[in-house]
Amino acid sequence: MTKKDFIYEGKAKRLYTTEDPNYVIVEYKDSFTAFNGQKKATMSGKGVLNNKISSKLFQMLADNGVESHFVEQVDDTNQIVKRVQIVPLEVIVRNITTGSLCKRLGVEEGKVLPRPLFEMCYKDDELGDPFIIEDHALLFGWATEEELDKIKSISLRVNEILKDYFAKKGVVLVDFKLEFGKDMQGNLILADEISPDTCRFWDSSTGDHLDKDRFRKDLGDVLGAYEEIWKRISA
Ligand code: ADP
Ligand code: MG
Repeated sequence: MTKKDFIYEGKAKRLYTTEDPNYVIVEYKDSFTAFNGQKKATMSGKGVLNNKISSKLFQMLADNGVESHFVEQVDDTNQIVKRVQIVPLEVIVRNITTGSLCKRLGVEEGKVLPRPLFEMCYKDDELGDPFIIEDHALLFGWATEEELDKIKSISLRVNEILKDYFAKKGVVLVDFKLEFGKDMQGNLILADEISPDTCRFWDSSTGDHLDKDRFRKDLGDVLGAYEEIWKRISA
């Protein structure tokens, strides 16, 4: 499959059609954005790392029975995925308190939660992806009850698999964001990306941040951290 027409440019990726309407090519860009696009940067090599990491993690999830849009990595920055209609929700699963959760609720940083916390935001850049509850998604038609149940159970399953996988690599999975979509047959599947842009990873022994928080908080050596995640999961 090859790239045909450009479809869409997001903050981190570009989408292209292929010869087959069921599939699109996702190109990972070198751009960093944070705080709703207010903070921006470009770092050469970031797209390659996120493409490799995301491809590897989607493949690992598939090996563990979790279906996603991922088909194959074609080269350094491109992967073939099933074309889906994205459900306009950003799903967040948290194991440890940090980030916007602490800011919003004033709860203590770095507290291990007694069980995973499942949150949802409405995916809308102009509104800044506002926090919502299930009833908003249902009443405004962003997802059905059945879809929400499925989204929640897949998300918690993904958390279990990723948490165990990363624990073995000396990495704590703190929290992550997922997106879901409906394929041409109407099946709800995991989509978008799973990378240090969308997950918080803490080194198990040092507590070092190995994710986009290095960019958000100006901690330095951002790509070194992404490189470290790739090194651990490709070993
Ligand atoms: P954003 O700026 O919205 O975060 P990204 O650059 O991360 O965008 O990704 C580009 C867009 O591609 C996003 O809107 C995302 O929801 C969408 N997308 C992800 N996977 C698929 C897919 N399989 N089919 C269609 N769209 C997708
Ligand atoms: Mg994105």
